Amino acid sequence: LEPAYAFMLRARLPGGVMTPAQWLAFDALASNYASSGLRITTRQTFQWHGILKKNLKASIAAINAAAASTIAACGDVNRNVICNTNPIESEAHEAAYAWAARLSEHLKPKTRAYHEFWLDGEKLVGEEAANEQEPLYGPTYLPRKFKIGIAIPPLNDIDVYSQDLALIAIIENGELVGFNAGIGGGMGATHGDPATYPRLADIIGFVRPENLIALAETVIGVQRDWGDREERKHARLKYTVDTYGVEATKAEIEKRLGFALEPARDFHFDHNGDRYGWVKGHAGRWHLTLQVESGRLLDTEAHTWLSGMRELAHIHTGDIRLTCNQNLIIANVAAEDRDTIDELVARHRMDGYKRYSGIRQHSIACVALPTCGLAMAESERYLPSLLLKLETLLDRHGLIDAPILLRLSGCPNGCSRPYLAEIALVGRAPGRYDLRLGADFQGQRLNQAYRENVDEAVILEVLDGLFGRYAGERNAGEYFGDFLLRVGVLSEPRKIPLKVNA
Ligand code: SF4
Repeated sequence: LEPAYAFMLRARLPGGVMTPAQWLAFDALASNYASSGLRITTRQTFQWHGILKKNLKASIAAINAAAASTIAACGDVNRNVICNTNPIESEAHEAAYAWAARLSEHLKPKTRAYHEFWLDGEKLVGEEAANEQEPLYGPTYLPRKFKIGIAIPPLNDIDVYSQDLALIAIIENGELVGFNAGIGGGMGATHGDPATYPRLADIIGFVRPENLIALAETVIGVQRDWGDREERKHARLKYTVDTYGVEATKAEIEKRLGFALEPARDFHFDHNGDRYGWVKGHAGRWHLTLQVESGRLLDTEAHTWLSGMRELAHIHTGDIRLTCNQNLIIANVAAEDRDTIDELVARHRMDGYKRYSGIRQHSIACVALPTCGLAMAESERYLPSLLLKLETLLDRHGLIDAPILLRLSGCPNGCSRPYLAEIALVGRAPGRYDLRLGADFQGQRLNQAYRENVDEAVILEVLDGLFGRYAGERNAGEYFGDFLLRVGVLSEPRKIPLKVNA
């Protein structure tokens, strides 16, 4: 007898866009094989937890039958390419999303092994040289995972500066004219190891759409050749960039490209959260963003997400989008269908965002215990009780509607992008966290460690005092993280160079 091994599966779903039919297929997979519903990740895709080993092959086949895949959703390759879900600028989104899909397809591993192993593809005859199989990744693949994201200003809901290759779409006169490109973002760190740290990408220039694929291949190639293959904790592009320097890395990229990048173009981010409720896009279509706590879709007494979205998928004629803040958008709705969808959403109590506090609307938690093997502390399961306590404090200070970015992480790997939160808890041990404070509201400034290895009582006491000061001393419209820096609770961090070549 073999133990009942269980696995996590993750789809590759560029830009987080799917059809209602795909939703139904993913939902069926959750019902048939997974242990805890559908879970929206912070990279705009689904994870299924608790897939028994004996069901792995059928599960992967079901994902592929839905015209999606799991290939390169994990591993030392380019991962799921994320893209701003910006439903307001729908035409810009369509253009940027097309690039996300193209990058995802172009950069996925070329090996047939995945199909042979999981999808009963034909066996290769003879042995192909690894380099022929993988012209980009070669026989050794990359030193570590590689992440690409496309943001469309003024929304930075993907936290573009946390990406290995950060692409900021530049829209001029309604047209996508190219991308500002940044390199070296990444969230992960290791407790007690100062050689590891979160880092924001440095913008190195502007690239026109026709050169985007070449740029992505080149940046990946530099990381493939220059990245640290001795120490895995030091193998992400961010450390390569810091080892060689931004300018030297940029020079190598340009040398391999055969041309210089143009100066980065102006842009502005308003915030890195999602806009809840209905917004109107182009061509008279409407888009409804709903908040999903920790991205976990289940049928419970509080709400019936699985049943509700299943019912919706049977009648919806548009598409469904996942956001990097673990939420979902019922997109491309005709004006005459809004009432029907509103009624369905209310009946399944999926409209919680209407009643939520500001901090609840801006909260993210990673999976952590019990399903993540790297977790040191609770995250997703802790968020509900922590939020109630924080809301009590905020209410007492008249701040219940104040939008404050809260992110919980069960370990310093940072899947919930905690280093870009105004308040972050990063797990140390059961019940103990590092309390980090002071990121901005646009995803352009990292937070700082304020208290290390503290328990909930200390966290609440510290935040109670700071909420009191924020309520009494803040300027009009001033965000919590900015306030903490202005009044000197935190020192001013290193300025992030948004353009190195302007
Ligand atoms: Fe990621 Fe760590 Fe959370 Fe696991 S515990 S999901 S590795 S941040």
